[in-house]
Amino acid sequence: MGEMKILGGGGEVAFTTQFDALLAWARKWSLFQYPFATACCGMEFFAVASPRYDIARFGAEAPRFSPRQADVLWVVGTISQRQAPVVKRIYDQMTEPKWVVAFGTCASCGGFYDNYTTVPGVDKIIPVDVYIPGCPPRPEAVLDALMLLQEKIQKGVHGEPVSVPPKDPLSQLRRKTKPSR
Ligand code: SF4
Repeated sequence: MGEMKILGGGGEVAFTTQFDALLAWARKWSLFQYPFATACCGMEFFAVASPRYDIARFGAEAPRFSPRQADVLWVVGTISQRQAPVVKRIYDQMTEPKWVVAFGTCASCGGFYDNYTTVPGVDKIIPVDVYIPGCPPRPEAVLDALMLLQEKIQKGVHGEPVSVPPKDPLSQLRRKTKPSR
């Protein structure tokens, strides 16, 4: 891990810090995303950008529609066999460091499209860093995934995919229907 030394007037090391940690901190709070939305999960993805969920809090509100300017590829929805080469090409065009999020059941494992036209998970084509279960996932799960990704970036972890824990839909329903005082 590299060190950054700032020299004081009277000699070396007035202040020392870990340069990589600083870089990782800056990266995790300024993620540019490339949304590859193909199906119904796209609606939930757009909801995350709304004021109610406010993805801007994480410094990740700006989408980029050029892979060369993006850090995170969000694969949102079902990937057909015909789309597979396109996804691979987009991934290859992104510059390092880059990360991939599989958004929803279809992107994670093909979902209920268990047939010859559908890719059974985008990880069959490109490496995935974070999986989000759900059909579709709730926006809260998407924010959980973003925080998991930030954690990985801060720790400099590559190649160890993580998954957002599945939410209990009944607990959410109970919370919504709880009488207000
Ligand atoms: S996981 Fe469900 S909501 Fe998302 S693309 Fe597949 S079928 Fe649609």
